[in-house]
Amino acid sequence: MKCCICGKEIEGHGNNPFPIAGKTCCDECNVKVVLPYRIFLSRIRAKDAALMITPTELKLIKPSGKYFSLKELQKAVDGYIEIGSEILPDFLTVVNEEGLLIGLKRNRLASILFDKEYVGNALLVPRKIFEKPEE
Ligand SMILES: [Zn+2]
Repeated sequence: MKCCICGKEIEGHGNNPFPIAGKTCCDECNVKVVLPYRIFLSRIRAKDAALMITPTELKLIKPSGKYFSLKELQKAVDGYIEIGSEILPDFLTVVNEEGLLIGLKRNRLASILFDKEYVGNALLVPRKIFEKPEE
């Protein structure tokens, strides 16, 4: 049996990938993708953390202050930031502006989870913590 996320052969019993579509996922994807995704969804109303989607894993990241600084966002996408097409309402999708130019790897996980094509890391940042509102 193959993992519905990474496509590798599953050793052992496998895991339920819910809410990610598919029948069974491997232990590695369970830890790196399914569990962080469940945590993200359970906290989606709080809008206090961003979801980082790398080509192989999901991570929840929080700003060091109340809002993400430009530097923190640049670090997450490893370069200049660009706002990509929207995946979730009230969340901005941040990607690397030069991703294609510098040959970043296709984000396979984003295409599986959200049916979107990106290269490099994509970051789903709640608008609320994206930047400090103008006063
Ligand atoms: Zn897997």
